[in-house]
Amino acid sequence: MKVRFRGNLIIRGELKCETALHIGGSVEGYEIGGMDNPVIKDAITGYPYIPGSSLKGRLRSLLEWAKDKVEADGKIHSCDDPDCPVCRIFGVPAEEGREIGPTRLIVRDVWPTEGTKRMLDELQRTKGLPKVEWKWENSINRITSEATPRPIERVPRDSVFNFEMVFSLYDFENSDGNVPKPDLEFLGDLIESLQLLEDTYLGGLGSRGSGKVKFYIKQFVLKTLSDYESQSEGKSLLDTEGQKVELRSLNVKELIDEINKRFEARQ
Ligand SMILES: [Zn+2]
Repeated sequence: MKVRFRGNLIIRGELKCETALHIGGSVEGYEIGGMDNPVIKDAITGYPYIPGSSLKGRLRSLLEWAKDKVEADGKIHSCDDPDCPVCRIFGVPAEEGREIGPTRLIVRDVWPTEGTKRMLDELQRTKGLPKVEWKWENSINRITSEATPRPIERVPRDSVFNFEMVFSLYDFENSDGNVPKPDLEFLGDLIESLQLLEDTYLGGLGSRGSGKVKFYIKQFVLKTLSDYESQSEGKSLLDTEGQKVELRSLNVKELIDEINKRFEARQ
């Protein structure tokens, strides 16, 4: 297999929680009778965050459903089709030795904005909650109607996080001389997975109201190999640099044309 690096597409912006969010953390360190449904928090600062692995895993699973790639045993999908959008974007386990090249999508851990940190600090100061909200859920006994309340930690609604994803673009040719579709042609599938996430949920308790999120893209930057060689910042592909662009306002076809033009100009 021949693989050649072409460049990175760097996508940055805000992820806003339109409802509260629950991404489960470790119960380690909690006393018996205390909170047994915590959200994941940074060990040093105590602020909740969204692990890149949680976000990436959810996007992958949504795209597996959308592309009819869910395995019968429910395990993570991987296949030999070089043009499979799931395997191309999200990668395959290295030990399977499939000819698809490196994982294209990198999803960073997602951290609260300064404004959201202040809001969480305030929650702690005024209500004594550990930089989160507590939601009480009741499980109702079907016969006696007795309610058993239990607290669940959530990141409050309207919290905003800064996200960054990198979609790496390679040219590759399989050892049988087969040239699969260019990576760029899968950009639409990546955006589709983000839209599927917006219309479903992130994290736990999604069918009970938690985890509705929305993406606002602020930067969509192409850095080609020659940009790296010349220490250039790359080319912004959004006219509205710094403004917030919703996913539905992205014109994927125009973006692909623009990126191809940049590649051709640099060859
Ligand atoms: Zn596949």
